[in-house]
This record gives sequence, C-alpha cells and structure tokens, in this order.
Amino acid sequence: MSIRNAAIIGAGMAGLTTALALSKRGIRCHVIEQAPYLAEVGAGLQISPNASRILARLGVLPALEREWTEPERIALVSGRSLGRLAHVPAGRFARERWRAPYGVAHRSTLQRVLLDAVMAEPNCALHLGKRIDHHDRAALAALAGEEPDVIVGADGVWSSTRDGISAAPEPDFSRNVAWRFTIAMADAPAFLQPDAVTAYLGPSCHLVCYPLREIGGFNIVAIAAGLNPGEIWEATASIEQKRLLLQQFRGWNPQILSLLKSMDSGRFWPLYQVSDGAWQNGRDTVLVGDAAHAMMPFAAQGAAMAIEDGWDLATRLSTAASVPQALADYERVRKARAARVRSRGTFNRFAYHVRGPLRVGRDLVLAFRPPQALAADLDWLYGYDATA
Ligand SMILES: Cc1cc2nc3c(=O)[nH]c(=O)nc-3n(C[C@H](O)[C@H](O)[C@H](O)COP(=O)(O)OP(=O)(O)OC[C@H]3O[C@@H](n4cnc5c(N)ncnc54)[C@H](O)[C@@H]3O)c2cc1C
Repeated sequence: MSIRNAAIIGAGMAGLTTALALSKRGIRCHVIEQAPYLAEVGAGLQISPNASRILARLGVLPALEREWTEPERIALVSGRSLGRLAHVPAGRFARERWRAPYGVAHRSTLQRVLLDAVMAEPNCALHLGKRIDHHDRAALAALAGEEPDVIVGADGVWSSTRDGISAAPEPDFSRNVAWRFTIAMADAPAFLQPDAVTAYLGPSCHLVCYPLREIGGFNIVAIAAGLNPGEIWEATASIEQKRLLLQQFRGWNPQILSLLKSMDSGRFWPLYQVSDGAWQNGRDTVLVGDAAHAMMPFAAQGAAMAIEDGWDLATRLSTAASVPQALADYERVRKARAARVRSRGTFNRFAYHVRGPLRVGRDLVLAFRPPQALAADLDWLYGYDATA
C-alpha cells in the first residue's frame, strides 16, 4: 500500500522530518503552519546520533554539519565546586561508537536546513500563516486542494489535532521552567568549556551550557522551578520569576551566580509534558513529536524523538498493508521507544537534582564509572537505528 498524499499540521522538527521522509517515498505532502514565517524561536538543541543518522539518510546532515558544533564530550560538573563529576566522550568517539555524529546547533538552524530540503522536494507544498483548529478536515481539503489520505498532527505540545483522536494525551505544566540566554565567546567566563556540552548540577536545579558556532557564543539554559505563564512557547520573565530563579541557585558557585545575574533577556519557557494516551484514531489521523509525547528536556531527546517518529511513520505508511495498520504499528513501536526515553529523563532529573546524602552517593558512583562505561549505558539510546 502507498498513500497518495498527507496533510501535516505544524512545521517544527516533527512536521518537516515527516514531510521530507514521506515525499522521498513519492507521497505528496501539504505542510500547514500557523506562523506567517519560521522565525528564530527556541534555543540550542543537542542532536544525538540516533537523530543525526536519520538526517544523514534524508540528505540534510552535510548542510547541518557546515553550521553546527561537535563537542568533544558531555560533562557533568558540580554547580558548587565546578569540579568535574563525570563525562561521556563525544566528537570522533561518538562517530565511531554510535556510527553517527553528536552535534549542537540552534533550533532555527536545524529547522532551516529541514525546510530548505522540504522546499526542494517537488512533492511538498508549504502553507504558512494558516492555523488548523479542531481537526478541521474541510479546512485541510480546501487548503490542499485535495482530501488528505492521512492527517499528521505535528502541532506541538498544545496540539489541536488531538481533537480528532479520542483519549489523546493531555498537556500538563511540570512546575519547572527553562531559562535561556546567550553570552558572546569574548565575554564568557573562563569556567565555561568551549569544547563540551556541560551540565552543572545542584539541588533541585541545573544549568546546561554549550558553544554555538552560529551565534559565536554560548547557549545557556537553566532549569528550575517556576510559575506557569500559560500555554505559550516563550515568555518574558516577571521580576518575581527572576527572583525565584536566583533564589534556587543560592549556595552555588559565585561564578555561576554572577553569570545568572548578568542575564539580561530574561526569556523562559514553561516546561509542559503530555500524559499517556492514544496517538491515532484507527483510521486516518496520527500524532508525531511533542504532540504525542512532549517530555521534560532532561535527556535532551524531544527533537530527536520527533525526527525518529517522522522517519518511522513515513516508512510504515509507504509499506504497510493499510493506513490503519501503519498507524497502529507506528503507535506501538514509537510509544515503547518514547516511554523508555522518558524514563531515562526521569532518572536524569533525579540524579541531576538530588540533594543531601544521596548527592554524595551520586558523586561517588559517578567518580568510579569510567567514561567508556557511561557511554555504554547510552548505546540503546544513541545507537538506535530507526532506518534499519
Ligand atoms: C529548554 C529546552 C531544551 C531542549 N533541548 C533539546 C535538545 O537538546 N535536544 C532535543 O532533541 N530536544 C530538545 N528539546 C525538545 C525539543 O525542542 C522539542 O521536543 C521539539 O522542538 C518538538 O518539535 P515538534 O515539531 O514536535 O513541535 P514544535 O517545535 O512545537 O512545532 C510545532 C509547530 O506546529 C505549529 N502549530 C501548532 N499548532 C498549530 C495549528 N493549530 N495549526 C498550524 N500549525 C500549528 C507551531 O507553530 C510549530 O511551528 C528541548 C526543549 C526545551 C524546552
């Protein structure tokens, strides 16, 4: 079986990857995006080998590699002493062990590279500035000029495509927010490592820092408890939000504190995740990416899962005996994978934010685990080959 066309709602990582993977199999795609243009929203993304392998198969990796940075390691560092607790090698090691590279890029770089590839596909049409609400089939057909064989909800954590699927997942505020700011290389304090992705750990919060070649500086994200500004991608911090953030980093290394105090932009994201639920309606509608499984960024895998979803769904839609069969197989396989990744994130959250005597235990365990052993723990995640 092969379908003739698909309507894809949302032009984020999930929607663009799905469109590219489907169109390369000869399926016409209409990508419908509410934004009038794809702006530079978001922050840096870690793109792990399980995702870069797919980007390579889709032919977009070389363009990304021209702009991204390949860190030498992923380091865990104490937020108090700035002493290294452990590290996982990346760089050439990642290419050899997981047969694909590990890179960091701005979200907008990855989105642009995917978009360029989608626009170069004769089978793809992009409809910007069009919002599809409540699974509105008539609006989709009018836009596309044809009835869609399949509707793909790639419309993120507050997806309205879910209205077409009974018992679909529901979004929930995690009570955590992610603060993001950048600092130019020339102004960066010496403790920031230009060749690593570094997570600075402390009780109940953490900070992730890595260089981004595209901006000539560091991407810095602080994750801590925060107030809910509502269903919004990115918000401006109130004085109260800022005070709450700084309070949680009290007792951290003074160099980190002054870095946080120097933050001028005060932009943050509320971190939402979605509950378990149905990802497809048994007929023609299916969710991919955050719409299906938005998760906390503790394993840095949300975009990677969106990319894996897009590839998997396209493969099944072009090979299964029927659309319902393809959607059911996709849901079964991808749910299991996303659940495992989510539990890794839950584990990381516990390990990163642990306090008191447990923290001492964590540091001891990490001190005795060689980098190769920590890398081996990640084989199931980074070595996963959705294209096999
Ligand atoms: C602080 C932070 C750090 C992160 N770090 C990483 C990382 O290092 N690595 C990683 O892999 N992931 C990371 N993630 C997760 C990652 O950013 C997301 O999982 C990923 O961007 C989800 O992509 P998506 O395409 O599913 O959704 P989105 O990017 O949200 O895209 C959805 C699109 O749908 C459009 N849309 C919504 N509703 C409609 C509608 N009704 N009609 C038309 N269009 C609509 C939106 O405008 C948007 O363009 C991080 C997330 C956060 C918050």
